[in-house]
Amino acid sequence: MRQINHYVNGHVTGASDRQTPVFNPALGEQTGNVSLAGSQEVEQVIAAAKQAFPAWAETSPLNRARILFRFKMMLEERIDELARVISSEHGKVFEDAKGEIIRGMEVVEFACGIPHLLKGEITEQVGRGVDAWSVNQPLGVVAGISPFNFPAMVPMWMWPVAIACGNTFILKPSEKDPSAPLLVAQWLKEAGLPDGVFNVVNGDKEAVDVLLTHHDIQAVSFVGSTPIAEYIYSTASAHGKRVQALGGAKNHLVVMPDADLDMAVNALTGAAYGSAGERCMAISVAVAVGDIADELVAKLADKARNLKIGNGEQTGLDMGPLVTREHLAKVTGYVDQGVEEGATLVVDGRGIEIPGCETGYFIGGCLFDHVTPEMTIYREEIFGPVLVVVRVPDYVSAVKLINAHEYGNGTAIFTRSGGAARQFVRDIQVGMVGVNVPIPVPMAFHSFGGWKRSLFGSNHVHGMEGVKFYTKRKAVTARWPDGDMGAEFVMPTMD
Ligand code: NAD
Repeated sequence: MRQINHYVNGHVTGASDRQTPVFNPALGEQTGNVSLAGSQEVEQVIAAAKQAFPAWAETSPLNRARILFRFKMMLEERIDELARVISSEHGKVFEDAKGEIIRGMEVVEFACGIPHLLKGEITEQVGRGVDAWSVNQPLGVVAGISPFNFPAMVPMWMWPVAIACGNTFILKPSEKDPSAPLLVAQWLKEAGLPDGVFNVVNGDKEAVDVLLTHHDIQAVSFVGSTPIAEYIYSTASAHGKRVQALGGAKNHLVVMPDADLDMAVNALTGAAYGSAGERCMAISVAVAVGDIADELVAKLADKARNLKIGNGEQTGLDMGPLVTREHLAKVTGYVDQGVEEGATLVVDGRGIEIPGCETGYFIGGCLFDHVTPEMTIYREEIFGPVLVVVRVPDYVSAVKLINAHEYGNGTAIFTRSGGAARQFVRDIQVGMVGVNVPIPVPMAFHSFGGWKRSLFGSNHVHGMEGVKFYTKRKAVTARWPDGDMGAEFVMPTMD
């Protein structure tokens, strides 16, 4: 049984008094225990990060970038090792775990450009003999709280930009799959990162609450479910911190009557069932426009019935198990409810057995047809391999449906019409939009974030939004007059 602790000031710590089990979801077996930090332990981490801050802030952006560059090269060499760790605790298939690392590495690559990204602005001669400029300075100690579903990538949406900007960072990962960030912490040290710049504290609400309220934490980045995101946003901002809190999703993919149907079906299948639907950008609603629905549902059903499901550590699979026994029960409960509420369950993945993984947390792909907006399976985020089809008569109804939903993370339209696609991009009240692209996760140099109740706060993560979030602006006005200019009692103006 592995004992998983914290990583503070460049070292793995001893165990905390409180622990919670960590499982291999494909086998349904406990593989370790993770420490849950108490408030005193979190205060020690904050103190270590605070102590490391002045020297790190003094380190030139170029030297910070060089450490990140060394880390990036290590990550490339060791990607399989990290992917195996992710797969064993999360359950996602090995190749998908590699995909998440590559998407996270993109942010490291973006942050390697920090000397350029941090440049301020200057106006020479803003007045006679006066120059003005602005600089971007680090905030201090910042914290990130991440979900179980991307144990490597989501923290990498935060910490590479945060530390590149000169902050020191405390990560509170998900207690369900805590090992990947600890490996990353050790590799960062090997890459030359000074102790205390990147710390990992494992824990639950008790640890999080200290981070949200402590006066030495300047900013909090959160990614997780909407109720917790809202709590994080209101609590941390009430304590004077900058907050970006990304929440849940219900992403719709609109299939227009003129779409390439096979392309749309393949896109929907990968986006709905990949990673067992445990992605915030998973497509969980197919919006069938006009008379395309019957053929769409028939083709989707065929795909859903033939998904290759098994232990994610093996190759050649489409999806693995869900993350925990509790989550499996929750997703199964949603499928039961969908049937009770009158939707047509075209493909039922409940109760599947995987040879060799009989006690794993598996559910097969599920497909519902004739789903209506009042149904629970339409309104709520299921976060499992459950795709629902809503039939609408026309484009306008599709847009109305999506815009009325409480979430606005991602969406996509599949069509051959440039005009319809362009109109959709303009009309839709959603943060990330795909045109014939089912999962439009922006590249690192663009920014990631939803609208409505999928994001609380004004900044998206990474890209220039990340640089803005993790720095504060200082505006300087300077002159070097030849002599005393006397007292000025009127509001200074420039001529
Ligand atoms: P979660 O909200 O349960 O947990 C996220 C983090 O918050 C974890 O570190 C957890 O320990 C902590 N936490 C949980 N309960 C808490 C509480 N009461 N007080 C303080 N902290 C608490 O989310 P999850 O189940 O780990 O992840 C899945 C969710 O994350 C889904 O809703 C998914 O849509 C969302 N997600 C969103 C994005 C996005 O970009 N919008 C990306 C990934 C995941």
